[in-house]
Amino acid sequence: MNRIHNPYRSARYVISAHQLKQLPADSGYEVAFAGRSNAGKSSAINTLTEQKSLARTSKTPGRTQQIVIFDLDEERRIADLPGYGYAKVPEKLRAHWQKVLQRYFEERECLRGVVLVMDIRHPMKPFDQQMLAWCSAIGLPCHVLMTKADKLKRGPAQAALHKVRRALPEGASAQVFSASNREGMDALIRQLNEWYAMPATG
Ligand code: GDP
Repeated sequence: MNRIHNPYRSARYVISAHQLKQLPADSGYEVAFAGRSNAGKSSAINTLTEQKSLARTSKTPGRTQQIVIFDLDEERRIADLPGYGYAKVPEKLRAHWQKVLQRYFEERECLRGVVLVMDIRHPMKPFDQQMLAWCSAIGLPCHVLMTKADKLKRGPAQAALHKVRRALPEGASAQVFSASNREGMDALIRQLNEWYAMPATG
């Protein structure tokens, strides 16, 4: 298959920030990846960057409560937000992170968009809806990545996509994706290129 150029292969790990003040300077372009624990966010980042273990995929989801930053070049970054909803995270920590993330969304000026990762078989859970409403309220574009599409046949996958699209607020979009067979890579790259204002390559 003839794929488009992938500028995300150059992603490199920068820092795991436990506090907002540890983040790189608030300039340039940042796109955040968010999602419920186990939705497939790490796998999506690894597939996007064509690096097997850049973002850690794990069987014990949600343990890492930190914002992990990868950079693509001097002015473009990916922010991997902590997975939400892992039952074993203590309530206090959860509340703490909710506040940190709220501040991140409200204050981070370089933030250009959010990729909201959902398991295509379990989309639009309360966390997802809250995130969409949040983005919509502050005018931040949100792109829903409905991943694990390989787990459904094409018909049901398309039906799930259309159902989600109908429920999206203004300024949000959605696509299907699979880390297993890379379906949806080009669509994701195109969306990110737009947000990052990627220079055209020959
Ligand atoms: P995270 O907690 O959101 O970062 O989720 P992970 O990326 O760690 O994925 C959770 C589980 O789903 C792992 O067992 C992955 O191998 C699996 N998974 C993730 N993406 C896909 C996909 O596109 N297709 C299939 N079949 N499995 C996936």
